[in-house]
Amino acid sequence: MNLAGQLYKLQQLDLELQKKQQELTDVENQLSDNKPLVAAEARLASQKEQLADARKKQKSSEWELEDLQEKIRQIDGKLYSGKTKDPKELVNLEKEVKGLKNQTTTKEDILLGSMSLVEEMEATARTTAGELERLKEEWEQLQETLRPRKSEIEIALSELKGERSRLADQIDSEAFNIYERIRLARGQAVVKVERGRCLGCHITVPTSQWQKAKAGDLIQCNNCSRILYLE
Ligand SMILES: [Zn+2]
Repeated sequence: MNLAGQLYKLQQLDLELQKKQQELTDVENQLSDNKPLVAAEARLASQKEQLADARKKQKSSEWELEDLQEKIRQIDGKLYSGKTKDPKELVNLEKEVKGLKNQTTTKEDILLGSMSLVEEMEATARTTAGELERLKEEWEQLQETLRPRKSEIEIALSELKGERSRLADQIDSEAFNIYERIRLARGQAVVKVERGRCLGCHITVPTSQWQKAKAGDLIQCNNCSRILYLE
């Protein structure tokens, strides 16, 4: 292989290396991106907290209601035991019972509201828990697929690096340095010449130039400085 051919091959390896490196980065990003899972976990935790609060409120409504009913029972006891004879006191007691019964109705409405809220929240938390379970499974499956994929890419990368280093050792060091310099500056250091034009900048290359390039010499485009290559 002549010098230009070696440099062209080197560039193909570099492009392949770049591609594999990008693939590795993508796989690593996917492997570490568990944001949806973390978000679902946080959502469930907050829903459970809210549910616990709602249950507490329901419980205290139940207790308040029991207290009211107990009070009513006690007054009813006084009213119907026959022990209280004073008509004024009887009227007061009846009034009190009426007031307590009104309070009971209000409390019952509140309790019903609390109960249905708790039910609603339980259903929501169940949905989130199901979703979380599904995300966990997906995550695990993805990890299982991606981990071997990552190893494959790493092996391919190390093979490519070995190949590149072997090829670089064979290339004249001055030419190698020119290649590296142009690669850093322009991304692609070696370009083909087609129909007499440099494919890097599309400027016509003098015939003498491309003939030398075809012979395998290191010829750079007068316009863009890239190394010219003809098969
Ligand atoms: Zn050019």
